[in-house]
Amino acid sequence: MSTTIEESLDINEVEDRFKEFFEKYYSTEIKDLVAKYPNEKSLYVHYNSLLERFDPEFADRLVEEPDKFILGAERAVKNTEIKLQPVIDSGESQGLSLNEILNNINVRFIELPTRLRTLARNLRSHHINKFVSIDGIVKRATEVRPKLVKGVFKCLRCGNVMEVGQEGESYQEPYQCADETCQRKNAFELLVDKSDFIDSQKLQIQERPEDLRGAEQPQDLNILVEDDLTGEVVPGNRVIINGVLRSSQKQSRNSKSTVFDVYVECNSIELMDREFEDLEITVEELNMIEDLSSDPDIYNKIIDSIAPTIYGYRDVKEAMALQLFSGVAKQLPDGSRIRGDIHTFLVGDPGIGKSQILRYVSNLAPRGVYASGKSSTSAGLTAAAVKDEFGDGKWTLEAGALVLADKGVATIDEMDKMNSRDRSALHEAMEQQSISIAKAGITSTLKSRCALLGAANPKYGRFDRYEPIADQIDMEPSLLSRFDLIFTLTDKPDKKKDEKIANHIIKSHYAGEISMKSDKSGEADTALEDIEPAIEPELMRKYIAHSKQITPVLTEDAKEELVDFYLELREIGEDENSPVPVTARQLEALVRLAEASARTRLNETVEVVDAERATTIVNKCLKEVGMD
Ligand code: ADP
Ligand code: MG
Repeated sequence: MSTTIEESLDINEVEDRFKEFFEKYYSTEIKDLVAKYPNEKSLYVHYNSLLERFDPEFADRLVEEPDKFILGAERAVKNTEIKLQPVIDSGESQGLSLNEILNNINVRFIELPTRLRTLARNLRSHHINKFVSIDGIVKRATEVRPKLVKGVFKCLRCGNVMEVGQEGESYQEPYQCADETCQRKNAFELLVDKSDFIDSQKLQIQERPEDLRGAEQPQDLNILVEDDLTGEVVPGNRVIINGVLRSSQKQSRNSKSTVFDVYVECNSIELMDREFEDLEITVEELNMIEDLSSDPDIYNKIIDSIAPTIYGYRDVKEAMALQLFSGVAKQLPDGSRIRGDIHTFLVGDPGIGKSQILRYVSNLAPRGVYASGKSSTSAGLTAAAVKDEFGDGKWTLEAGALVLADKGVATIDEMDKMNSRDRSALHEAMEQQSISIAKAGITSTLKSRCALLGAANPKYGRFDRYEPIADQIDMEPSLLSRFDLIFTLTDKPDKKKDEKIANHIIKSHYAGEISMKSDKSGEADTALEDIEPAIEPELMRKYIAHSKQITPVLTEDAKEELVDFYLELREIGEDENSPVPVTARQLEALVRLAEASARTRLNETVEVVDAERATTIVNKCLKEVGMD
């Protein structure tokens, strides 16, 4: 049945329609919920069922008038005619009455259609008090604390007891004593054990890196969560937040401002766990990807698509390519996990394009996060528990770059300048790919399953390739050994090379004009050949995302190739002058690199050619650090 809603429905009509809807489609869910109460307290309603099975106009109104609709839905549960007493008698309700249970059930709406989803940056004044659905990553989460919802007060003069409902964040005392003969206007005592509290928590979400392009800064949005939604997410979780957008007036020192801040009063949180769904790949694009993967020159094309405006550095770009495609994470029988992510590190003289390469890679990665080691945020690179304005005196757990880049690539510039807390957390973050926090009652483990691309300048201005790197960049060998590949880049004047770089840089600067000219004259694109990517970034990003669905397995021959090379390395590494110790980590690195190489062809097996690429690039890196 479908009715047309000509005028706005009143609250009783909304309640009646929801009663009808719940009876038709949600009676099983309501019975289940009542049986599980108080372990579960929320009825989750799929927006689609309202939209497609019940009444599209009614569903639309919910977005426009969420307060009335949420209240109406909760009243419909409270006054439902579904037979629930038998359920309660056999449930876990611990002697609670049907009324007590139904009074406390929240109705939460989930899975709004994508046309109703918004990015934080696109929220406008017309969204205020409307139902919104927003994608993001949880960046901060405060401790869960009780919040007063109904205060019971005692007048300190006459002892009269009164109730005051609490709304929003400000604390409301009675205006005056309700006793006729008293009517005193101050001195009330809050009777804590007679008052009602609800769990409350404040979150901050940030736009997801995959929703940002170029140098856009992610925007933040504050979220208020209550009751059974508290404590459900941790920083780094990817979520969809559904709720009502509220505004609150900014307070300057002595006057109220006309500019308002917004936050979301959360109705439901959807945790996004799937990995590949953030990039939509069309059938047409999939065909292009398949075609590319069987191109015999695909490996070079991919390398030529990394930072083409930077001249040279072919080995570095090859490493970046392998890092983007990445190896396969493995779950061992004993429950431990070996990362598939490849960590790389660029150390070298200033002004040679390191930062530029990092920015390029973070834009190209399907999920790239760029940060600087000397960043001023309290979370730094890893994560921190802080007590600041955001939490209004409560402790807040805050995610740094490596957590926000979970399942992506974190590029960290000026890594040598990171603080000591990050330095110690990084050991765990790089190998176990998690960050543990235990401070002030907050204990949590945040996930940081990302590849790290770091860059650092040497301590003494210029790099000296005959000195151990650890001495030159203020990083302990234990941290350096966690990188799969370390490149040391030096800037020695070389007339021929310098001339080429100079021409390349100038050409990149005027790329716009060159392409306009060649459009007019119809000249071939040869003028731009070496500064334009072989594969467009947008397609490349999708190619990379798609490749992650493939988990290539080593062939016997490839295995032999890697093991032989590793054994040779071990022998050389025995030498006490060797700058880097050779450990089993190098073997794991070789496997990851070879797997990544197979993924560039979307190949299910790792062949000898892949193993050779891995050994060649590892060899080059070791030579550069003086191990030959
Ligand atoms: P670093 O981080 O190594 O100190 P930057 O990335 O800031 O250096 O580079 C400084 C500038 O020099 C950038 O504008 C960069 O584009 C340019 N540059 C340096 N090396 C190259 C190169 N090989 N090819 C093209 N541009 C380069
Ligand atoms: Mg730099």
